[in-house]
Amino acid sequence: DPRIKEVKDLIEFCPDFPKPGIVFQNLFPVLRNPKVFQGLIDVLVEDIKSKHPDVDVIIGLDSRGFLFGPLIALALNVAFVPVRKKGKLPGETHKVEYSLEYGKDSCEIQKNSIQPGQKVIIIDDLLATGGTMKAACDLMEAAEAKILSCMVVIELKFLDGAKKLKYPLLSYIS
Ligand code: IMP
Repeated sequence: DPRIKEVKDLIEFCPDFPKPGIVFQNLFPVLRNPKVFQGLIDVLVEDIKSKHPDVDVIIGLDSRGFLFGPLIALALNVAFVPVRKKGKLPGETHKVEYSLEYGKDSCEIQKNSIQPGQKVIIIDDLLATGGTMKAACDLMEAAEAKILSCMVVIELKFLDGAKKLKYPLLSYIS
């Protein structure tokens, strides 16, 4: 899709960020270009409309999933629900711990934000090792939601993150 090619051309590659040896891919230049940003959102929305027209909730991952998820949810006229890093959400939450390269992190969702049986698509900007997306899937299972698909703009295929997931992954740039 030419709209995805335009996105790809705007990605900024940042060597040795945030640590030596890592090449960070920065999607923020896309957000500075409304035509290309709109094209990306349109592609994601069209793909969901054709593959999963029955989606009830778009789940966005902290923090760059919040840049894409709400726009997609509004375009589909469905709910948006954030998954947040620990300690940010009031009230009762489901919580899942996951391992990072060094140590652990955890993410949460408000218990009242999803009803059992609701059909969800989980969105983030990028899939690397898949640990973050896997944790979000575990959260959805705790909430008894039905995961239709995981969705990322960029998939770092050489890291094999998709293998960690029990659900289909939609990705657009690798
Ligand atoms: P994973 O858990 O190893 O798959 O890492 C994915 C998470 O880290 C996502 O929430 C991404 O936003 C973030 N991340 C990892 N590498 C990059 C990158 O190169 N660019 C932007 N985000 C990244």
